[in-house]
Amino acid sequence: TEEKSLNFIEQIIEEDIKNGLPQDKLRFRFPPEPNGYLHIGHASSIALNFGLGIDYQSPVNLRFDDTNPAKEEQEFVDAIKRDIEWLGYQWAEERYASDYFDQLYDWAVLFIKNGKAYVDSQTSEEMAAQKGTPTVTGTDSPFRERSVAENLDLFERMKNGEFPEGTHILRAKIDMKSTNMLMRDPIMYRILHKPHHRTGTDWKIYPMYDWAHGESDYLEQISHSFCTLEFLPHRELYDWFLDQICGADKVRPKQREFARRNLSHTVVSKRKLLQLVNEKHVNGWDDPRMSTISGMRRRGYTSAAIRNFTNTTGIAKRDNLIDVSVLEFCVREDLNKIAPRVMAVLDPVKLIIDNYPADKTEWLEAENNQEDDTAGFRKVPFSKVLYIEREDFLEEASSKFFRLTLGKEVRLKNAYIIKGESVVKDENGTITEIHVTYDIDSLSGSGTEASQRKVSGTLHWVAVDHAIEAEIRLYDRLFSDESPDTHKGKDFLEFVNPNSLKISKGYLEPSLKDVKPGDKFQFQRLGYFTVDKDSTENNIVFNRTVGLKDTWEE
Ligand code: ATP
Ligand code: MG
Ligand code: MG
Repeated sequence: TEEKSLNFIEQIIEEDIKNGLPQDKLRFRFPPEPNGYLHIGHASSIALNFGLGIDYQSPVNLRFDDTNPAKEEQEFVDAIKRDIEWLGYQWAEERYASDYFDQLYDWAVLFIKNGKAYVDSQTSEEMAAQKGTPTVTGTDSPFRERSVAENLDLFERMKNGEFPEGTHILRAKIDMKSTNMLMRDPIMYRILHKPHHRTGTDWKIYPMYDWAHGESDYLEQISHSFCTLEFLPHRELYDWFLDQICGADKVRPKQREFARRNLSHTVVSKRKLLQLVNEKHVNGWDDPRMSTISGMRRRGYTSAAIRNFTNTTGIAKRDNLIDVSVLEFCVREDLNKIAPRVMAVLDPVKLIIDNYPADKTEWLEAENNQEDDTAGFRKVPFSKVLYIEREDFLEEASSKFFRLTLGKEVRLKNAYIIKGESVVKDENGTITEIHVTYDIDSLSGSGTEASQRKVSGTLHWVAVDHAIEAEIRLYDRLFSDESPDTHKGKDFLEFVNPNSLKISKGYLEPSLKDVKPGDKFQFQRLGYFTVDKDSTENNIVFNRTVGLKDTWEE
């Protein structure tokens, strides 16, 4: 038996099983609205629902909550399916709230016949004025006591498209004096003359979320309908609707709430992400700076890392903010295991080995991944003129500088020990060449005494004549503020970091010449990098996925 403490959601399920719900009646769903791409917050909800499905061996449906044709598109349906599959989860059935439009309509007609719903023909302003406030009770609509016959006639004509938008709505007849504002005769249907991505122009009226969601859960016999905390006040209405339709021999779905996953330095709201896309703060939904699953995938995050993140952060009862460094830690941890090590220089300065033959190239052996016994070795070319990182050299340095300086020795990774001899500068004083000498007996792995000499550091490098020039995209946080969308009176866009993307050139070892989009590497001493989908044969583009260590923690 597994020793695992149950989270509060699992406790709810265990309690229901104890109280007689057969385990084979457990059924869950993940219910995205196809009005945008999934983000890291959704990943938590996906992990929760599909994780329960795995733990209890229960079906989990993917249900598209497609009740608002104005905002929903097939593109988003496709993207959502792709992302869930990529995360490694499998749904039992693909369903749509729109599958149930006929049934929902029939039930609404029944509500009217039972005196539980009526057509209101006031303006939205009039209805708002009657709604009251949490401390002031509402006022009944003058249309509340319409006859059943008149309601049936109007509702059918609404359905047939006889009325313009905004002229009539169908309301549940509950209680205008309820302390819960959502129970004050909530809207069930509104008129929308908009084509739907699945039902086309069949419908001129569309059900509201509250009316469609619980009923969809019921129709699919979902036992537990988990949603985020903002739906807590909706639970009473969810239950009221079920009261009207739920058969005695059926599983009665149960809505329970958990806290939204918030991540620092980003936004997790499709509406805001859409705004970033539309206003061109980023280059599309899958921009590697986005908190979308597709953006993170393109940046080089692995699904294992995201799953690990959702598992370690779990779900909470109260809203909380997780620092993005927790996610980055998970990414780094996974890439450390799987990413081959290669050498690349991003800010090059020429290093010339004065005592090395000008026309010689040696192909030296380099280990692909010391964390992976099966990763093997490759050859890297070594010759007289190399690139090293500009910041790896200082003309005059303190004893704490463990890189190259004049008169001191360092090792070139997989190669020889070199010693700084002199520099050449241009008219501005910028170093253009570093001249060194090498110790011919010091080759890495040669076992000689010279090769085992202790030196102050090891540098990565690439041979100039063999290097591949590539485009390197360096990302910084998209927002300079920890919680950009929580500042009163300030728009979250005010906190967009204007320097979140820096494009530069890099020089890569030639083993990278045939890389494909999605390939992942550790550029030694620099970080993890992933080939971007913009790569072409003549222009390899790498995204920096994440640095080697958390440079943000002081
Ligand atoms: P958004 O504001 O981003 O549009 P949403 O809740 O409207 O979010 P849905 O497509 O309706 O988006 O979400 C599908 C499911 O994912 C819902 O059950 C929702 O509660 C859950 N979900 C959405 N955002 C988060 C989040 N940040 N953390 C956890 N779960 C989330
Ligand atoms: Mg929603
Ligand atoms: Mg939403």
